[in-house]
Amino acid sequence: MSARWRRMLAALALLGLALAGGVARAAPPQVDRVEPPHWWVGMAEPRLQLLAEGPGLAAAQVRVEGSGLTLERVERTDSPDHLFLHLRIAPGAKPGVSRLVFEHGGERLRREYRLQARAPGSAQRRGFDSRDVLLNLVPDRFANGDPANDSLPGLGDPADRSALGGRHGGDLAGLIDRLDYLAGLGVTQLWLTPVLENRQPASSYHGYAATDLYRVDPRLGTLDDYKRLAAEARRRGLGLIQDLVPNHIGDGHRWRRQPPARDWIHPPLDGSALTNHARTTIRDAYAAPADREAFTRGWFAPSMPDLNTTQPLLARYLVQQAIWWIEEVGLSGLRVDTWSYSDAGFLADWAARLRREYPQLGIVGEEWSLNPLVVSAWQAGSPLFGTVEPAARRTPADATRPALPSLMDFPLHDTLRQALTEPEGFSSGWRRLYDFMVNDRLYADPARLVLFDGNHDVPRLAPALRHDTALQRMALAFVLTTRRTPQLYYGVEVMLDSPATHDAFDGFRADFPGGWPGDAVDAFSGRGLTAEQAEMQQWLRRLLTWRKTAAAVHGGALTHFLPQDGTYVYARHGGGGPAVLVAFNKSEQPRRLATSRFAPVLPAGVHGVDILSGEALDLSSELTLAPRSVRVIELDPSRHPRPLPADPRSGS
Ligand code: CA
Repeated sequence: MSARWRRMLAALALLGLALAGGVARAAPPQVDRVEPPHWWVGMAEPRLQLLAEGPGLAAAQVRVEGSGLTLERVERTDSPDHLFLHLRIAPGAKPGVSRLVFEHGGERLRREYRLQARAPGSAQRRGFDSRDVLLNLVPDRFANGDPANDSLPGLGDPADRSALGGRHGGDLAGLIDRLDYLAGLGVTQLWLTPVLENRQPASSYHGYAATDLYRVDPRLGTLDDYKRLAAEARRRGLGLIQDLVPNHIGDGHRWRRQPPARDWIHPPLDGSALTNHARTTIRDAYAAPADREAFTRGWFAPSMPDLNTTQPLLARYLVQQAIWWIEEVGLSGLRVDTWSYSDAGFLADWAARLRREYPQLGIVGEEWSLNPLVVSAWQAGSPLFGTVEPAARRTPADATRPALPSLMDFPLHDTLRQALTEPEGFSSGWRRLYDFMVNDRLYADPARLVLFDGNHDVPRLAPALRHDTALQRMALAFVLTTRRTPQLYYGVEVMLDSPATHDAFDGFRADFPGGWPGDAVDAFSGRGLTAEQAEMQQWLRRLLTWRKTAAAVHGGALTHFLPQDGTYVYARHGGGGPAVLVAFNKSEQPRRLATSRFAPVLPAGVHGVDILSGEALDLSSELTLAPRSVRVIELDPSRHPRPLPADPRSGS
C-alpha cells in the first residue's frame, strides 16, 4: 500500500470517529425528573420554579409550548446535570398540559407538564388549633396492613421486627384500616413521623433522613395510599399533618453525589462537622458568631447532610415542596422538624409564603428548648419584639420574624413531668408547674402552643411517670385542659411501655399492640389488655370525646389557684361554653377544699358534673378529692343559684 493510500485510510478513520462523535453529541437530552412533578392554577404566587435533572442537561436549551405557562428565565448553576426553569402562570390560566421542550445538538425532547385545578376551598382549609387534639404516630410502628411491602429490593434496611432500631413493617394501609379506632378514641388530627422515602442502610424507619423529597417510601405505601389516608381520615373528621424536614436530608439522597449546586449542602465545618445543638445562640446577643454558625451550618447527624437554606434556589425548592404535599394530599397542616436549625431568614420567608397560600394552615415547629424565651421568639406576633431593644441585645436572627402559628411546647412538657415526679415543696411539685405558667406572658398566643404527653423523641409517659396510673391520668388531664393545643403520643391510652431502657430513641417507638397479625395483645379490640389498661383507654376516650365540644377549654380564659397540700385547681371559663374546673390531688390523703377559695370563677352554690366519673357534685361549700386523683368538672349553669341573664338573642 502506498503512503498516499495509507494517508487516505487514516483520514477516513478520523472522519468515522468524528461522525461517531457527532452522533453521540446529537443524542436527545435526557430528563430524569422535573420537580415539582406538577403544579396548580389559581395559587396566590404566580411564579413557579422547576428543577430539571438529567445527565449533561445543563447544556440543553429550553422552551415551553402551551398556553398559560411562560418561561421567564433558565438558570444554570455549576452542576452539569441540573437546570432551573423560572416560569410564570398566567392570571386566570386554565388547568391543562404544557410541554417543556429541551433541545441539544439539534435533538429535542418534549416533556409534558401539568397544571391542575385546585380542590374546592383548598386555600381556606382549616388547620389545627386549640379545638383539636393531635396524635403523633410512627407509621412503621402502628399497624402492618400489607406484609408484602415490609422489605423491598433496592431500598436497603430490610424489615426486622426483632431489632429495636429495625423496620417493623407498619404502613399506611394499616393506618387506614385503623382510622375508625383513632376517630373513636376522640383525637382530631394525625401527625405521622415523615413518610418520604428513606433509602438509608439502617435506622430508616423513623423517616427523618429523606432521600427523595417527592416520593412516599414504598415500604409505607404509594402516593395514592397516602392520599387515600388523608381522604378517609377527613371523612371521619380527622385532619392529616405531614412532618417535613427542611433542615437536612439523608446521605442516601442523590444530591449527596451530585447536588443541584455546589453550595446546596453545607460542607462540614472545620473541626465540628455536626451541629452544636446550641439553640440559644441565635437569640443570645452574647453568643460568638462562630457558635451560631456551627449551630445552623453543622450537620444534624453524620448521616444527615445539612441543607444550605440561604441558597435562593434551594429555598424556593423547599417552599414549593411543602406546598406540593399540602395541595396534592389535602393536608391540614405541617409539623416542621428541627425548626430553628435552618437559616432564620429562610424560615421567615418559608412560613410567610405558606401562610399566604393557606392563611389558616396549621404549622407547628419543633423548637426543642426548655426556655420559653427561645420558643416564643418564633411565634407570629411574639411580644419579645414588641419594644425597641438596644442593638446590643439583638442578634442577626432577630431581623426576621417568622409567621409561625405554633411551636412544640417543650418547656411546659418538661415542667409537667418534673412537677408530677418530685415531692411537693416550696418550689417543687405543683408549685413548680404553677410558677412556670407565668411564662405564658412571653407568648403571643399560648393556646396555639402544642403541649404533649410524649412524642417519638422522649421517653413514653408510662415509664417517665414510673408506671403510676394516677400520675398518668393527671398528666393527660392537664395536657387536655390547660390553655394549649394538646398532642398525644400513640399508645398512651393503654400506657404503652418502652421495650428497652427508655433512654434510647428506638425504645420510645414500640409497636402498637394488635397492629401485627398474631399479636398476643390487641389494643384495638381490647383483647389481652389488663383491666387497668382497658380502664385507662375508656377514661381517655371519655375525656377526649367530651373535649370536642368543651368551648371553655378550647378558647376560655385560665385562672389557677395556688397549690395547697398536694392539690392544684384551675378553671377554664368564658369561650362560649360552661366553665370547667380541673382539680388534682397528688397526695395519699383525701382532700376537702373549701370552694369559697375559687370565687369568682366558682360562684357560691354552683353545681357541676365530674365528666370523668359522671358524678353530680354540689360545690356550694366544698370540693372533695380522692387520694391521688383528678376531677374535670363541668359547671352546670342550670343549677346556678342566681338566675342567669336571658340570652338577648333568644327573643323570649
Ligand atoms: Ca408493611
